[in-house]
Amino acid sequence: MTTKSQRRVWAVWPMAITIAGAAVLCWVFLVPPGIYRWAKSAYESCNNKLRQVHGAQLMWSSDHGGDTNAILTLEDLVAPSGYFKERPVCPEGGTYVLGRVLDYPRCSIPMHSLEFGHVKAHDEDGWPLGGVSVTLALPGKPLRTATTDQQGKVLLTGFPASEGTEWANGKVSASLAGFASETRDVKDGWPMSFRLKREPSSSSPGQAQN
Ligand SMILES: [Zn+2]
Repeated sequence: MTTKSQRRVWAVWPMAITIAGAAVLCWVFLVPPGIYRWAKSAYESCNNKLRQVHGAQLMWSSDHGGDTNAILTLEDLVAPSGYFKERPVCPEGGTYVLGRVLDYPRCSIPMHSLEFGHVKAHDEDGWPLGGVSVTLALPGKPLRTATTDQQGKVLLTGFPASEGTEWANGKVSASLAGFASETRDVKDGWPMSFRLKREPSSSSPGQAQN
């Protein structure tokens, strides 16, 4: 025997399922592109600020006899010198850290970098390694590969490494014959810097006995 209230409960189910289904569809189709657009515009806006900060560092340098060794702070560039009227702020609340004048300033948010997608490779002594094969692996995407130049540098990818946000789960690996391969997480930030260790090998020319 079905009471009136039980019938009402059963009548509610199809509507609840429809609403839940619509919510899932919204989540799947609207939220990820929304997050991606937001992440991309925050990245672009932050990089514009970083570019302006770097420009101000260079201006400061030319106003101070070409001093490129100085390590400035944002305060040096805002008041009273007036390179900036207002303190530049990262749209995602990252903190700006300035290095020497010729080095790009950094944001504490790893993806906000003027060197996004750049890879640098050197050996344990700090010498640049050319010919290093670097590979970007993103979930569900074809691999991207590139080879470092004689300065040990290469641009591996631009910001939208893929259409979604899955680049945050990506990995970059570097390999060169005679060296141990290394892998890093994309979310550790850019530029990706590899310090490859020479593999001990009895057949390597320098170490051959007799
Ligand atoms: Zn930022």
